[in-house]
Amino acid sequence: MLGVKARIGSGRPPGEGPALLQGLIVCANCGRRMTVRYHSRKGQLFPDYVCQASRIGHGGKVCQTIPGAPLDEAITQLLLKEITPANLEISLQVEEEIQRRHDQTDRARTQAIEQLRYETQLAQRRYLRIDPDNRLVAAELEASWNEKLTSLQHAQEERQRLMFSISYKDKNIR
Ligand SMILES: [Zn+2]
Repeated sequence: MLGVKARIGSGRPPGEGPALLQGLIVCANCGRRMTVRYHSRKGQLFPDYVCQASRIGHGGKVCQTIPGAPLDEAITQLLLKEITPANLEISLQVEEEIQRRHDQTDRARTQAIEQLRYETQLAQRRYLRIDPDNRLVAAELEASWNEKLTSLQHAQEERQRLMFSISYKDKNIR
């Protein structure tokens, strides 16, 4: 399915997060349930599906890691395409689920943005406090401030973009 080495299992353990397939995805290598791990890049959170049951249980290695975003997107497209009157009710549940996960992701993004905003202010204050004669340090602090500012802008733009893409999808299927 979808050319990735994983398949969707049935049932779902407790615990949930923004990744769409959290608790649903089963590793095709070893049959264990995959968990979600987030990594942050430029102030954005990206989910990965990770098979690490053997690592946790027996100190072994991570079995495999699949980037979450393209997989979630592919599954979402697949689900949206499969909608017919016969499965409309289940589709609506799926849609609600997608929306709910999206809201959770958005909350996580908002928190990441708040954190970046704080770090940007901190970097700005550090820069403004430095003696201008200390050029090397001043240049470093300025670069760090600019970097934070760029991350913050990226995170804000990405959040806007994703909010737009979700509401656009909603209009398409209703
Ligand atoms: Zn595995």
